[in-house]
Parts: sequence; structure tokens; C-alpha cells
Amino acid sequence: MSDQNFRAILTGSFSTPCKDNPTGAMIEAAWKSDGTNARYVNCDVKPENLATAVAGAKAMEWVGFNCSMPHKVSVIQHLDGVTDAAELIGAVNCVSISDGKLTGDNTDGKGFLESLKSVTDPAGKRVLLLGAGGAARAIAVELGLAGAASVAIASRDVSKAEEIAKLLAENTKSEASALPWDGDIDVPQDIEILINATPVGLGDAEAMPDVNVETLGGVEIVADVIFNPPKTRLLRTAAEKGCTTLDGLGMLVNQGVIGVEQWMGKKPDAQVMADTLKDIFGA
Ligand code: NDP
Repeated sequence: MSDQNFRAILTGSFSTPCKDNPTGAMIEAAWKSDGTNARYVNCDVKPENLATAVAGAKAMEWVGFNCSMPHKVSVIQHLDGVTDAAELIGAVNCVSISDGKLTGDNTDGKGFLESLKSVTDPAGKRVLLLGAGGAARAIAVELGLAGAASVAIASRDVSKAEEIAKLLAENTKSEASALPWDGDIDVPQDIEILINATPVGLGDAEAMPDVNVETLGGVEIVADVIFNPPKTRLLRTAAEKGCTTLDGLGMLVNQGVIGVEQWMGKKPDAQVMADTLKDIFGA
């Protein structure tokens, strides 16, 4: 019998469209650097093929996979269970497969929190979150669980912000509120952390969320979920006003680290992952 092992550990991602997703490139760079024989396959899976793709991953004994748009909610019906955070958020972006059982988690908010903790402890902080979609919901829940003093959610559709505020009020100790967002929003003076969780800025370095920039000066930290390009106009403007800024690359790296650790019980090298993304996006 040979000691050699030609069988790679298999993971990947199911989404559509998937061609702009750099997660596989960053994770495989880390595996290459430490000699791990594993693959991350970025798969374009249409909604009507999700069930077959999940069954395929299970049949091929993948250790896990990520789910991105549009499968973050619909994948839940194909799983054996979800974590408490995914249950609260109502969406799954990371599935672990162990002993044939599929468990869904949501690492969007956890990845953001890890990144935020590199510049501040969110406990006791007052936060304004722009947007009320999937990323905002995941970030709001994790901020609440991390003990933020207050989380205000601003949305063009205030009913979506109210839904997240209700979720926080019922499940965390944070004070939660919803703000209508119509035109340039004034950042309230007591806000310490401002987070853009809208797609504004994605693929467009000049796009700017509707924010009154004159009210940015008092904010301690301005963060963006956008990773391409990483230096968004919001972050450049905030830096000019003296705020500490945090780009979306850290969130992307950290959720990759968390996912791989859940699948394989071993953290990949976050620095190799960050450097790979910086190369890809010219940061
Ligand atoms: P969703 O579509 O679920 O939500 C988007 C939210 O942004 C909605 O509340 C939407 O409001 C709002 N919005 C969109 N355009 C505008 C606008 N012009 N002005 C004000 N509000 C706006 O998307 P996700 O939450 O899943 O993702 C948001 C962004 O986060 C994406 O660009 C994604 O790439 C990024 N992301 C980054 C990650 C990372 O690792 N860095 C991880 C996950 C996501 P409305 O309902 O009114 O349209």
C-alpha cells in the first residue's frame, strides 16, 4: 500500500452569477502556501439546480460549501439544521457537511465583526447601518450579540429597517431603531460607527451612498462592505474628514477563514488570503 494520497478535500461555492467571486482564489492561495491538498470550486448554480448541486456535494463527500446570491435563503430547505445565528438572520452562506449531515451557518456578520474588532470593540458603541438587505441583517445581529449600545438601521424602504430593528430588540440587548432614508442622510452626532451595507460603490469607485458628508466628521469609524474597489468614495471621503476607515476586504477574508475552520478544523493563513485579494484588486 502506498502512503500517497491523491484525494483532494473538496469545497466550493454555489451562486449565480459567480464569475466575480474571488473567494476561491484567496482560499486556494492559502492552501497552496501551507501544502493543504484541497480545492474550492466556484460553481455557477441556477436556482432550479440548487437541490441537485447540494445533493452532489453530499454525494461527493465535500466537507462544505458557501452559498451566495440568490441561494442564501432557499438553501435552508435542503439542510438538516442551522446554527442559532443563521436562524436569527434567516439566511445561510456557509454549509458544513459532517457524517452526511448538512448544517448551515451565516458568516457574513461574523466576518465583518472580526474585521471591525481589528480597529475597535463594538461593545457599548452606537452604530448607524446603511441598508437593510442580507448583509445589513447579518451585521446587525452580530453587532447586537457583541453588545453594541445601539444600532440604527437606515433604509429607503423603512419597513425593511423596522423588521431588522424588531429582530434586534427581541433577541439582543442593543437599543434598535429604524430610520427612513430619503436623500442625503445626516449622521446623528452620537454615532461612533457608520457602516455602508448597501451595494453602492460596487464596481464604481465614484459611487457614493446618499450621506451628508458634512456630518461625517464626528464619526470614529466608517466601514464599507464593498471590497471591489476597496477604497470606496465613502471611505476616501471619511478619511479626509479624519475618520478611521475599514474596507470590505477584511470581511471577505474573515468569513473565508471562519468557513474553512468550520469545514476542516484548521484556520487558513489570513495574511496570504488578504495579500491575494490586494493583488487581485490592486489595493
Ligand atoms: P441586498 O440586495 O440583500 O441588500 C441591499 C440593500 O441595500 C437593500 O436594503 C437596498 O435597499 C439597499 N440599497 C441598494 N441600493 C441602494 C441605494 N442606491 N441607496 C440606498 N440603499 C440602497 O444585498 P446584500 O445585503 O446581500 O449585499 C450588499 C452588499 O454587500 C453587496 O454589494 C455585496 O457585494 C456586499 N457584501 C460584501 C461582503 C464582504 O465580504 N465584503 C459579504 C456580503 C455582501 P432597497 O431594498 O430599497 O433596494
